[in-house]
Amino acid sequence: MATGGPRILIVEDETSQLQLLSYNLSVEGYQVFTATTGAEGLLVLDEQEVDLILLDWMLPHVSGLEVCRRIRRGKATRHIPVIMLTARGEEDDKIRGLDTGADDYVVKPYSLKELMARVRAALRAKSGQPENDLMVYLGLTVDLVQHRVSIGNESIPLGPLEFKLLRLMIGCPGRVWSRDQLLDRVWGDNLNVDTRTVDVHIGRLRKQIARVTDENYIRTVRGFGYALDKSS
Ligand code: CA
Repeated sequence: MATGGPRILIVEDETSQLQLLSYNLSVEGYQVFTATTGAEGLLVLDEQEVDLILLDWMLPHVSGLEVCRRIRRGKATRHIPVIMLTARGEEDDKIRGLDTGADDYVVKPYSLKELMARVRAALRAKSGQPENDLMVYLGLTVDLVQHRVSIGNESIPLGPLEFKLLRLMIGCPGRVWSRDQLLDRVWGDNLNVDTRTVDVHIGRLRKQIARVTDENYIRTVRGFGYALDKSS
């Protein structure tokens, strides 16, 4: 097993899945810890410092959701990014998962390539370091050095809050953000804003993008929040 790379705990009761994930993450240079039940996963967390947790939704005895809650309650574990592995068609469950404090989710059967990209994105978001100065999602480009957003050659002028929103969301394409999460990450400790403010600035962001393209990049998740997701 490789050493020195970021440390990842996988909690997954299906042994074949666990082995496949474990093998592929090791090959990528991650240090891997494994558990087949939630209780075992929590025990590992008592003894090891990890950088990221991949957590299966459907676990025997203690569900992935409950494990996630406990991780978020633990003083030593509450800041560890959690990616939930969910089965197809659990849309409500996925959202509840994020509401519970999971950082992201991947739907089974997932492609390893996609999962690896999510793992890198979550670790990057944790460290606060973008991979490079340009963040690109399906033609939409955010230049962090020049503070410039564009599609093709068309520049998209944005206010500072719209820029921060887009910069955050482009770091994890497809991730569903609740209004509270966006408020927390973009507005920080400013207590004078409420979640409707998020809607206003998402509206402005959409309007600016719509000036240069017919494509809708930002998806509304009704009753919850938003995702940067062109496919929908
Ligand atoms: Ca399972």
